[in-house]
Amino acid sequence: MPVTRLQIVARGLTHRCPNCGARTLFKPGALFRINAQCQPCGFRFERDKDEGFYLGSLSLNYGVTLVGCLLPVLLLWFNHVIGDKLAIGLAVGGAVGFPVLFYRSSRSWWLMNYYLLFPQHLPANGGTGRGDESTNR
Ligand SMILES: [Zn+2]
Repeated sequence: MPVTRLQIVARGLTHRCPNCGARTLFKPGALFRINAQCQPCGFRFERDKDEGFYLGSLSLNYGVTLVGCLLPVLLLWFNHVIGDKLAIGLAVGGAVGFPVLFYRSSRSWWLMNYYLLFPQHLPANGGTGRGDESTNR
């Protein structure tokens, strides 16, 4: 198999194209705009038949915000390490700021999770990359 699961994870964690590894997932200079397609390999990041594909990245972002930001604040406040005002400030700031900072990673990680489960769907592994393959192994 040309693209291994380890490569898919490494590319996902570094916001690269899961198919070829190029830094083409996001538009240059734009923080939140994903490219429709990878220029070097032609892999389509946008899914024509699956418009809600990236909705999962929102759930991922929400979950990581809860576990990575709000839960630690809650534990610090509950154990009287920080006061009420600081806890509220950190929680509100974290609830707004953390998802913004994690947005690009959540998109990339969602794509990584999909191809980690279905590496045979990548064009480099013989798939179409459009998500219309059978999920049978
Ligand atoms: Zn590519």
